[in-house]
Amino acid sequence: MKPDNSIIIIGGGFAGMAAGIYAQMNGYNTRIFEMHDKPGGLCTSWKRKGYTIDGCIHWLVGSNPASRMHDFWEEVGIAQGLKIINMDEYMRFEDQGGRKLIFYTDLDRLEKHLLEFSPQDAEPIRDFIDGVKMCLPFDNPSLNEPLLKKWKNGLNMGASFLLNGKRWKRWMNTTAEEFAGHFKDPMLAQAFRHIWMPEFSMFFMLFTFAYLHNKNAGYPLGGSMPMSEAMAARYKSLGGTLHYNCRVEKILTDNHQVTGVRLADGNEYLADRVISAGDGHSTLFGMLDGKYGDEQTFKPYEKWPRFPSLLFIGLGVNHTFDNIPHSISGTCHMLKEPVTIGGSVREFLWVHIFNHDKSMAPEGKTTLTVMMHADYDYWKNLSEEKSTYEAAKEAVARAVTGLLEAYYPGISKNVEMTDVATPLTFERYTGNWKGSFEGWLITPENAGTIMKPMPKTIPGLKKFYMCGQWVEPGGGLPTGVMSGRKLTQMICREDGRKFRTVSGNR
Ligand SMILES: Cc1cc2nc3c(=O)[nH]c(=O)nc-3n(C[C@H](O)[C@H](O)[C@H](O)COP(=O)(O)OP(=O)(O)OC[C@H]3O[C@@H](n4cnc5c(N)ncnc54)[C@H](O)[C@@H]3O)c2cc1C
Repeated sequence: MKPDNSIIIIGGGFAGMAAGIYAQMNGYNTRIFEMHDKPGGLCTSWKRKGYTIDGCIHWLVGSNPASRMHDFWEEVGIAQGLKIINMDEYMRFEDQGGRKLIFYTDLDRLEKHLLEFSPQDAEPIRDFIDGVKMCLPFDNPSLNEPLLKKWKNGLNMGASFLLNGKRWKRWMNTTAEEFAGHFKDPMLAQAFRHIWMPEFSMFFMLFTFAYLHNKNAGYPLGGSMPMSEAMAARYKSLGGTLHYNCRVEKILTDNHQVTGVRLADGNEYLADRVISAGDGHSTLFGMLDGKYGDEQTFKPYEKWPRFPSLLFIGLGVNHTFDNIPHSISGTCHMLKEPVTIGGSVREFLWVHIFNHDKSMAPEGKTTLTVMMHADYDYWKNLSEEKSTYEAAKEAVARAVTGLLEAYYPGISKNVEMTDVATPLTFERYTGNWKGSFEGWLITPENAGTIMKPMPKTIPGLKKFYMCGQWVEPGGGLPTGVMSGRKLTQMICREDGRKFRTVSGNR
């Protein structure tokens, strides 16, 4: 006998917890099975020798209480008590000749600086700034804002959409690599190419800078883990049950309808509906054995590029870095000569100094992180032999510390903690396919999913749903929450229920 009204959710990341929170608000009985011993999935941090290494949050879209997304952060219990700081710099690039290219968060300052940096590139610079300006109104106001402001914003949005149809399309269809090709200054071109990923649709970058300018993508002091814990607490306060250390191995079906899940320990749990908010590849090809789905379901897994996996290096440094400006994403040092680290050739060293968040390190000390894309197969092969794998991790830490010395003289003698996470670490703790850190890249091929979202159900399998970054190209924390929210709205519609929400303040 199956209990009525029940939903099993696989995965306690932001998408899974959001689905659980909104489903509880709407009268469903939910339980989440999470394979890790903590909530939050990729939104996490870990402690080493008194230092906290934050493995996620740089900027939180919706951090401004005037924005609609902020309402959602309140609903899921994150906004309450959150202290946000807005920084002047998004990130900077520095080359060996001492040139500094700074991506400011304020648009006017950014335009002025870019034009001074490379007057010969005035045309693409102005084109970029105009593109960001086009996105500024696409920041829905909070329901708490005055009615007039909401109407005005709605009109601006509609007008911008109607007037700029062709421009939208052009930006959607332009990759960072293509846009970088318009710059004459090689450093500016490299920056635009790599600020995110060369394959990325420029559209996404425009929106990020629009949110930054609107002070709606600030940094939450305390970092990732407190947000994940707040969301888990909110879910439990609404009556949900979160089971940790429970990996779902199979999704059970009967006559083309889901009936429940089987955990790795062999226990089976039944429910009316199952939502997978975990990795898409293992859901479709592992938990469902590749038996359900059609061309549309499987195509992304064959054709779409993913966010890569990472080597994520944490360093604890007995120093304060007071003279370095606070920055959302840190500094990209452009190396004089390429070096091989962790099996890949590196031209850049991306360093993020957490001097903006004192809670990350003991008094008088600072946590640094260095992020580099990593070759999953290289690390997978190394992991066959534990001692080789560990030695390779140590070599990465040594190489990075050595390189940092050139930019922060004297640093190596103050480094008192190093920690190296590899693609295998990401895979082990979050289950994401080949350790990908954000699911599908938004490229010209799939940018259309912004207007026509990926399906959240699978043809041929009833009462089964998906949410999270594998069905929402571009990923991200706000997307995770909106994904769980929209999915609950869809389930409510199926059941003829009026979707309702309760603010976390009530
Ligand atoms: C270095 C880094 C920086 C980032 N910076 C930002 C940022 O600044 N802003 C931003 O918005 N986003 C950022 N992101 C992206 C963001 O963290 C992710 O897109 C988002 O957390 C994805 O949420 P999700 O719930 O879809 O997936 P996940 O977080 O991957 O959650 C899936 C959950 O499912 C669980 N799971 C998987 N398989 C199973 C199974 N079989 N059984 C049980 N449980 C299972 C996993 O353990 C995990 O908890 C960053 C990510 C990284 C790694």
